[in-house]
Amino acid sequence: MIIIDGSFGEGGGQILRTSLALSLVTGKFFRIENIRSGRKKPGLMRQHLTCVHAAANIGKARVKGDYIGSESLFFEPTMIRSGSYNFSVGTAGSTTLVLQSILPALLIADGKSEIVLEGGTHNPFAPPFDFLEKVFLPIIKKMGAEVKVTLDRPGFYPAGGGKISVTIKPVKKLDRIDIVDRGRICARFAKAVVANLPLSICKKELDTVCKKLKWDRLCTKAEEAQNSRGPGNIITLEVASENVTELFTGFGQKNVRAEYVAQEAIDQARRYIAAEVPVGRYLADQIMIPMAMAGGGRFRTLPLTGHSMTNVEVIKEFVDIDVAVTKISKDVYEVEIKQS
Ligand code: ATP
Repeated sequence: MIIIDGSFGEGGGQILRTSLALSLVTGKFFRIENIRSGRKKPGLMRQHLTCVHAAANIGKARVKGDYIGSESLFFEPTMIRSGSYNFSVGTAGSTTLVLQSILPALLIADGKSEIVLEGGTHNPFAPPFDFLEKVFLPIIKKMGAEVKVTLDRPGFYPAGGGKISVTIKPVKKLDRIDIVDRGRICARFAKAVVANLPLSICKKELDTVCKKLKWDRLCTKAEEAQNSRGPGNIITLEVASENVTELFTGFGQKNVRAEYVAQEAIDQARRYIAAEVPVGRYLADQIMIPMAMAGGGRFRTLPLTGHSMTNVEVIKEFVDIDVAVTKISKDVYEVEIKQS
């Protein structure tokens, strides 16, 4: 049995999600102790518990310790069952993070899957729906599996109530890819969205982007989200290059000025564009699992985050890989994942 220390490195929910995902992929069972001990409220919260139950359902797993606040969990999958599933977080907890724990196994399952996820779709500290659709899934497509996502209803923190549908056409084994060169930047697009809030917020955010990044007005869009249960605001900056697309996000918050929300996304986009790397800091930790499943891969990115470093160590517990990180220059690092 693999024993995972949930207090290791970042000490957050990512350690649990990666463990669940790779336990399903490899069939190896594990126990995790000190779950999220690095967080203010340690243990399993709603979103994490939904990840556990979704993974248990798909992997027909034996589970112990699956309750709110639990700081230890045993998980033993028996088989992967593709098919139709509906998982609801029940709060504004992130649907895209629930998907992180089940998608890898379904990418190589023996049949098609249709998943409906309910909860938050645009949460701070999680990939927003747009990132999944525009950045992560096109890479998965290059690796051979086809995943389609639809935003049926947006769900912003704290009201939640969002819904996404996911269709997964698996492959036998993911193809190895290298993402070393970004290629020429061919398009830039800024989108500001409000739900149950004045559209003028979007205008302020987009004005800030056009002024500070010198992006053309024609490459911007202000949108009012339909059917959102609560208020919400998000700005996304999409940078499409020949070989990869990246997306940077600012999340609106009560009592935070629109200009400041835009600036959060602008700072990330500026750093990415200047470094001339293909892979941004969030995508870096997310592509490690598919690359490990493919038996290897290589990419260039910004300095690795604590999340990425932690993820590498958790992946190594389940899959026999070596990960070499080489500093190319101040803001450029190359990560190579190889079978050991
Ligand atoms: P918890 O707070 O539940 O303990 P955690 O701290 O482990 O969980 P994070 O690791 O902060 O959660 O984030 C989870 C995932 O969300 C990571 O894979 C990260 O790449 C991704 N992520 C966070 N913010 C963004 C963003 N703005 N765009 C894309 N992905 C993001």
